[in-house]
Amino acid sequence: MDSALILIVEDNDRSLKLMRDVLSYLGYRTLEASDAEAGVSLARAHNPDLVLMDIQLPGIDGMEALIQLRSDPVTAELRIVALTAFAMKEDRKRLLAHGFDGYLAKPVDVLELPRQVATLLGSPTRASV
Ligand code: MN
Repeated sequence: MDSALILIVEDNDRSLKLMRDVLSYLGYRTLEASDAEAGVSLARAHNPDLVLMDIQLPGIDGMEALIQLRSDPVTAELRIVALTAFAMKEDRKRLLAHGFDGYLAKPVDVLELPRQVATLLGSPTRASV
């Protein structure tokens, strides 16, 4: 079976590269987009197992992108997690109420990311990471 496919939608190059490098190292396949339009398009085309969606993006933001994905039958059931610098409890509640399946605080903690992603994917944490 193929390893999980994870779509990263993030306009910050450094943050995108960090997540991609960690996820690739863990054996996941990744797709990348630096804006919401490209992210939505990739999600439709590739049916990823998990979408990591930045909130603050140029043009359409992550909140609007989520609405688009949820309103399209092809992508409505995708597992979509917000990447957000907002860490306040109210913000987290707002994101979940908006329809995200979870959230990851930025900056991403590379030591925590493997466990977080494994949990989000609903699989056991990969060993020896
Ligand atoms: Mn951003």
